[in-house]
Amino acid sequence: MDYDVIVVGAGPAGIFAALTLADYGSPSVLLIEQGKDLSKRRRKSGKDMLCGWGGAGAFSDGKLIISTEVGGFLQDFLSRTSLLELLKSTDDIYVAHGAPAHVYGESTAELEDLSDRARTADLELIPMRIRHIGTENCRSILNRLRESLNGRVEMRTNCRVQNLLAEKDHITGVRLENGEVIHSRFVVVAPGRSGANWMRDEAASLGLHTYVRPVDIGVRVELPAAVMKQITDRVYESKLIYYSKTFDDKVRTFCMNPHGEVVTEKNDGSITVNGHSYARKKSENTNFAILVSSNFTQPFDDPIAYGLYIARLANLLGGGPIIQRLGDLLAGRRSTRQRIDRCLTRPTLPEATPGDLSYVFPYRHLKNIIEMLEALENLAPGVYSRHTLLYGVEVKFYSNRIQLSAELETKITNLFAIGDGAGITRGLLQASASGVMAARAIVKRLKLPS
Ligand SMILES: Cc1cc2nc3c(=O)[nH]c(=O)nc-3n(C[C@H](O)[C@H](O)[C@H](O)COP(=O)(O)OP(=O)(O)OC[C@H]3O[C@@H](n4cnc5c(N)ncnc54)[C@H](O)[C@@H]3O)c2cc1C
Repeated sequence: MDYDVIVVGAGPAGIFAALTLADYGSPSVLLIEQGKDLSKRRRKSGKDMLCGWGGAGAFSDGKLIISTEVGGFLQDFLSRTSLLELLKSTDDIYVAHGAPAHVYGESTAELEDLSDRARTADLELIPMRIRHIGTENCRSILNRLRESLNGRVEMRTNCRVQNLLAEKDHITGVRLENGEVIHSRFVVVAPGRSGANWMRDEAASLGLHTYVRPVDIGVRVELPAAVMKQITDRVYESKLIYYSKTFDDKVRTFCMNPHGEVVTEKNDGSITVNGHSYARKKSENTNFAILVSSNFTQPFDDPIAYGLYIARLANLLGGGPIIQRLGDLLAGRRSTRQRIDRCLTRPTLPEATPGDLSYVFPYRHLKNIIEMLEALENLAPGVYSRHTLLYGVEVKFYSNRIQLSAELETKITNLFAIGDGAGITRGLLQASASGVMAARAIVKRLKLPS
């Protein structure tokens, strides 16, 4: 064997797997990343945004969500108490590497009050605690994590794993894109969303069972920060669930960014929108997504293709993402540059094309989104203003979920699959925690002193 463990993907999941392994008696570990090293990554480059040392975490908003209900599905593998303990200890590692001390959502009295008010508005508030790192600080924390690994774990960047190698249902190593074969006793695969297609193909060739996940489609809403202030000052981000009147569909808010910016994202040839916020640099606006889940069964069963189709339709009409004032959408007319210029909410993504989202979304999605905005108005007056901006489309693609044991091992012995790419997490803290889980299982088998 060349190494005890190979970790594929240097996002939060892979980094925390490598770090945990290094902390337990230093087995020989190789961490392989297809993208650039952290210092070489540029936010404006579409590929660097998601790939490279630090993974999708590098330019993220850096919200560490300390909740068993949000950010992934690790509750399917651990009891709630054990998961909360794991999340807290993983969060401690972020703090030890420079994450800020303040945690939002600690006050139960404030949460209860908000939760009651949400209920009277037909909304359900999911309580959670959040530590906000901020985009500009993500890089320095990742740098410190990288320094912690230096000399203890071998790292290769600009190095793509082509195949996972197995013999008689045991993992034996990996083959790189350049043909080099590296052998190891264990492989931990953590390819994230950007490696999801590759993971799906490798899973199929190894005979691993996978489950299709729904796709979440919707808009990014942008409005003056003052409108959401009462909520964001208390809990930073509010996860709100709404069941639409017309369709009884579950609609939810996602990724709220007080004083943040709307940004673009590239997904399989389409340009979609997302949002983030800095710790110090503040815009006048708050943004958040409103998403509707879509799943399909027969004869069509490819939610990702459906999401891409909607995203490409927006790009076809707008040459990129579309922006529309809520007032224009409700009045049945497109937004124009002049109308956006007159809008009281100043867009933080001015390059989005003024247009008409009713040409993009199916009736079901549009109706769900409008009904949720109406409900939100009762919780935060001003949300349903004609000056509220809607950017389309925001799509959340989730990787197919791989069938895994309680230790996150696949049915190929000593092959572990973790993080967003395995379809078991959707956020920084749960992805990192999944790395710790897999590493702990390997430590036991390597019989390293714990
Ligand atoms: C703009 C934005 C903001 C976000 N904000 C937040 C937030 O505030 N809070 C939150 O909890 N989450 C946030 N997220 C989500 C979060 O970043 C992800 O959930 C998290 O990074 C997933 O970690 P991961 O390690 O599983 O995957 P990733 O971070 O995607 O890392 C996977 C890595 O594997 C590499 N890789 C893939 N295939 C191969 C291969 N074949 N060979 C070698 N390397 C490979 C990729 O290049 C990538 O670097 C945000 C995401 C984005 C894009």
